[in-house]
Amino acid sequence: MTRPFNFSAGPAVMPVEVLEQAAREMLDWNGTGMSVMEMSHRGKAFVSICEQAEADLRELLAVPANFKILFMQGGGLAENAIVPLNLSGGGAVDFVVTGSWSQKSFKEAGKYCATGLAASNEADGHTSIPPASGWRLRPDAAYVHLCSNETIHGVEFHELPDLAALGSQAPLVIDFSSHVASRPVDWSRVGLAFGGAQKNLGPAGLTLVVVREDLLGRALDICPSAFNYRTVADNASMFNTPPTYAIYMASLTFQWLKRQGGVGAMEQRNIAKAALLYDFIDGSSFYVNKVQPSCRSRMNVPFFLRDESRNEAFLAGAQARGLLQLKGHKSVGGMRASLYNAMPMEGVQALVAYMREFEKEQA
Ligand SMILES: *Cc1c(COP(=O)(O)O)cnc(C)c1O
Repeated sequence: MTRPFNFSAGPAVMPVEVLEQAAREMLDWNGTGMSVMEMSHRGKAFVSICEQAEADLRELLAVPANFKILFMQGGGLAENAIVPLNLSGGGAVDFVVTGSWSQKSFKEAGKYCATGLAASNEADGHTSIPPASGWRLRPDAAYVHLCSNETIHGVEFHELPDLAALGSQAPLVIDFSSHVASRPVDWSRVGLAFGGAQKNLGPAGLTLVVVREDLLGRALDICPSAFNYRTVADNASMFNTPPTYAIYMASLTFQWLKRQGGVGAMEQRNIAKAALLYDFIDGSSFYVNKVQPSCRSRMNVPFFLRDESRNEAFLAGAQARGLLQLKGHKSVGGMRASLYNAMPMEGVQALVAYMREFEKEQA
């Protein structure tokens, strides 16, 4: 079966092998006579799926032993509240704003603690990363938050800041929703990472939290029990019913990633995919990407037609060729191609071939 290429920013393309395996196992998982979604989360079968998922993810992302992996719900947006409820201690928190997602996190945290804007790229339309040496970090911050890949503006941190080297004792919190598992993570620089699964890991409904153990047990009294990291960790993500089917789908994705050679191998493919598209855009006078080359996202490539009156024709032609969901986010307009792990090189080649053809036709 040939499927179109789906460039959605999320929920997003899944590996076809994962979807096929899920289809095969839909009515009867491993001889149990049950679909995974019909199983008790405390039964042997599901507990084994969940434990394997955690072990595979720990291996794929090389998560150190002193970090807990939590399977939660609520998505990235709920974490914007859950993180300050757990880590702020009612004190002050610093934010680095590089696009819509970190902006939202900054605003939401203000409901629970004092917030400071350590740096922002708003002045250049969210197309850069302010150099860390100039960040205004307060000495008493409970943590520093940044979004390591801005899904809407297409800005990615290719290196995480070393806060200790900047004179800060604060743990770094990263929202890695849209590039988790696309590249290795430098855990020596991270206190907590969170992300929704629906960009690069599986279906919507599962939120991944990876948190250093010494940050557990600091929650405010008003923190809901189901969102208290200590409680979730002590109960192996089963304080309440976890999103069982989404965890299962993510576990199939983790196994697929291991068969692909792991996250390091995926990173090499993601570099090649992104380079193909950016090089084409930069070589064209018809399309433009406005993000500074040093911080362009490998996962989410926003681009514009210089003549925006052609947008509808571009999207219609793409759709007709099986290149789906290329319309940009409504807040920035234009186009956006998301190149997550499950997008093969062939999809990017097909997109570039179409863009070249469309440009020629319009000339
Ligand atoms: C999609 C996304 C979110 C929001 O996720 P929800 O699951 O809708 O809450 C947050 N942060 C980033 C970086 C995202 O890409």
